[in-house]
Amino acid sequence: MKRTDHNGTLRKEDAGRTVTLVGWVAKRRNFGSLVFIDLRDRSGICQIVFDETISEAVKDVRSEYILQVTGEVQIRKDPNPKIPTGEIEVLAKEVNIVNTAETSPITIADDTDTSEDVRLKYRYLDLRRKPLQDNLILRHKIQMIARRVLDEEGFVEVSTPILARSTPEGARDYLVPSRIYNGRFWALPQSPQIYKQLLMIAGMERYFQIARCFRDEDLRADRQPEFTQIDIEMSFVEEDDVFAVVEKLMRAIFSELKNIELPAFERLTWEECMKRYGSDKPDLRFGNQITDITSLFEHTEFQVFRSVMESGGEIDAVHFAGLADQYSRKTLDKLQEFLKAGFKAKALAYLKMENGALSGSIAKPLSDSEKAAVIEKFGMQDNDIVFVIADKPAIARTALGALRVRVAHEHNLIDHSQYRFLWVTDFPMFEYSEEENRWVAAHHPFTAPKAEDVDKLFTDPEHCSSRAYDLVLNGYELLSGSIRIHDQDLQEKVFEAIGLTMEQAKEKFGFFLEAFRYGTPPHGGVGIGLERLTMVLADTENIRDVVAFPTTNSSLDLMSESPNYVDDAQLDVLGIQVRDDKKKQS
Ligand code: ASP
Repeated sequence: MKRTDHNGTLRKEDAGRTVTLVGWVAKRRNFGSLVFIDLRDRSGICQIVFDETISEAVKDVRSEYILQVTGEVQIRKDPNPKIPTGEIEVLAKEVNIVNTAETSPITIADDTDTSEDVRLKYRYLDLRRKPLQDNLILRHKIQMIARRVLDEEGFVEVSTPILARSTPEGARDYLVPSRIYNGRFWALPQSPQIYKQLLMIAGMERYFQIARCFRDEDLRADRQPEFTQIDIEMSFVEEDDVFAVVEKLMRAIFSELKNIELPAFERLTWEECMKRYGSDKPDLRFGNQITDITSLFEHTEFQVFRSVMESGGEIDAVHFAGLADQYSRKTLDKLQEFLKAGFKAKALAYLKMENGALSGSIAKPLSDSEKAAVIEKFGMQDNDIVFVIADKPAIARTALGALRVRVAHEHNLIDHSQYRFLWVTDFPMFEYSEEENRWVAAHHPFTAPKAEDVDKLFTDPEHCSSRAYDLVLNGYELLSGSIRIHDQDLQEKVFEAIGLTMEQAKEKFGFFLEAFRYGTPPHGGVGIGLERLTMVLADTENIRDVVAFPTTNSSLDLMSESPNYVDDAQLDVLGIQVRDDKKKQS
């Protein structure tokens, strides 16, 4: 199919040229004997005019037909400033109807009004919409920059297996039954973690991969069962070396795709981050940090504060300027409900500054000097409000962290032009799983503990810090990673600390533990969430907007209707029989 130009590229300088264009009919309008057709290809839209000498040829042409048109570019009498080609049109001389199309079940327009379920069923039509095409192109550009920058930095792209051994990393594995070895299963990788570490043992030194990862997790709005990581691993490195590579990559991406020179990346330890923001992925585009004001109440007679302090709790507060009048009793009750239901905070107290004095739920029980201390601490002015939670530190902090974000969103305190990157370091090594009744690895069990905390592995796992880090951007976790264990004894100890017996560890990771014996270099890396990164750059909160063929929130592909049932013959060769009580009638 010959064409001389792309529809979205013609400008007034092209006037007088004879061009041939191809594309889909985005819109047609009839004006007496004149027909106007907007012809669309990936580059954009061009208006084609069919005058009375040729309009008969397109009388049956409807939306989404494919045309090939030859004609002359001319200046438009009524320019359309909304599209880049708005100053010109093409006067058709010849037209070839390349293909017809049935009426599209979805509205193919930038702002479509078709429901998402229907759009997902007809994803190939939804993908004709420019915003989605732009997102796919953006994603492609991010990948191209990543490949270029990492290549320049001496990284080698290596593909690791998709059919792998089941080595659960926290989520459930997707299993693939083996036909040749009935009863045995492959697993789809949750990430190439073990393979990339083996590549370090293999001496590759610097590896990357744009890796598909699969996690059979419970349904969540912003998850897809498969996703993509820009996966990186490096040998002979410390945290700073890994951070430098990631920062270089992020700088290139933001500079080339957004024209933004990023400010310095900030850093906080996990402990400090939780104290200040009650979250390990804080949004730094607004202030309103959490302040521990326990020390203001050392001698308080307020019974509630006394008993919280005596039982090891703390009193935390967040200050917002000029918002007191926005918080009526009803609004405060709603906020309280939200914190109670989602964050276990029993009570939300508040103090409002009105006419130079504090009022509010705890104004009465506090002494004048305590109130004066609060006013001074936050430099409170009229119409300011301070939210206060007295509780166990973890509860008070996370609840106020959630409140901080909610209030900022509700009152537009966020500067959307900013990109604030934050490295959160020194994550806890373990977290307690109520479900499994044991300590589990907070990141994954290959993460190195902080050297000074190795002796806490068994004696005080709660306070054992690790060399795991996250990179956070505007409240999103963009990546996780860590410096790994490279010593076999230490790796065995960590398995033991998470309750794996030596036999279990050998059964699961035997080949990996064995590899450690043959000269393992110190190493570390990251897995960057490609969809997340693309979402931030595309300014969308819907992960499906950056995935070509996504599944729904309930992990279904509505287009191909999968997962699907397979016939008995297919199961037979795999040696698999589905239990009657698990068979659903379709
Ligand atoms: N494999 C890790 C993850 O998927 C990333 C890393 O530690 O490099 O979170």
